[in-house]
Amino acid sequence: MALVEIDNISKNYQMGEVQVQALRNVTLSIEEAAFISFVGPSGSGKTTMLNLIGCLDKPTKGKITVDGKQVNDLDRKQGAIFRGSIFGFIFQAFNLFPVLTVYENVEYPLVMIKNEPTLDRKDKVLKVLEAVGMIEQRNKRPDQLSGGQKQRVAVARALVTRPKLVLADEPTANLDHNTAVNVIRLMRDMRDEFNTTFIFSTHDSGIMEEAEIIHTLEDGRLTHSTPRPLRARAKTI
Ligand code: ADP
Ligand code: MG
Repeated sequence: MALVEIDNISKNYQMGEVQVQALRNVTLSIEEAAFISFVGPSGSGKTTMLNLIGCLDKPTKGKITVDGKQVNDLDRKQGAIFRGSIFGFIFQAFNLFPVLTVYENVEYPLVMIKNEPTLDRKDKVLKVLEAVGMIEQRNKRPDQLSGGQKQRVAVARALVTRPKLVLADEPTANLDHNTAVNVIRLMRDMRDEFNTTFIFSTHDSGIMEEAEIIHTLEDGRLTHSTPRPLRARAKTI
């Protein structure tokens, strides 16, 4: 069974009198350690898709299975526990705590979710900061970092709990093109290193090319899926 199985899901939003069909009969599966992107113009359903996979919202119709667990029946509390056990999230606006250092920002999910002994925590935080190339900036605060550096910290924070799956909704939208490509490549390196599955969204054609599999959404429909066997190639560079 694939890590994520999406079986004929639809999602409608009620806006007063009007019903918006954000996703229409989407079926797809995502394998473990995949590096995939949802692409499509604004309003095509990318955020809705990631929210459903991340158990932040429920489909109107259809079934979603993540890591063998059917998630569309979970209540709020079960959903929160499941999220903490399996996902890391990366946001467009970075969402770092401005008063915490780089180190403390990355440590935070371990304190909140995993409640680990201090020494084990330190080990994990330093390792992941090293992996994203931010070890030397560990005592800085977010306002002392560039946008690309902030997103590196956000990648480290998403990975520090060793999630199976990282979800990133337009993680490069606030970055210039070169920085954006570097952040996506960093995520791909992290996939190679930790075998973490990465799912991100973008409406930028220059960024989507970095994904191995591209799922295109148009008006809530999955119109095509393009496999791009980049993994072997990336390893030889
Ligand atoms: P994207 O992320 O590709 O821009 P979204 O998933 O955010 O697309 O939105 C898909 C469609 O659903 C859009 O028409 C949007 O206006 C609508 N939509 C998204 N969220 C809501 C909501 N909470 N209430 C009503 N309509 C929504
Ligand atoms: Mg969106």
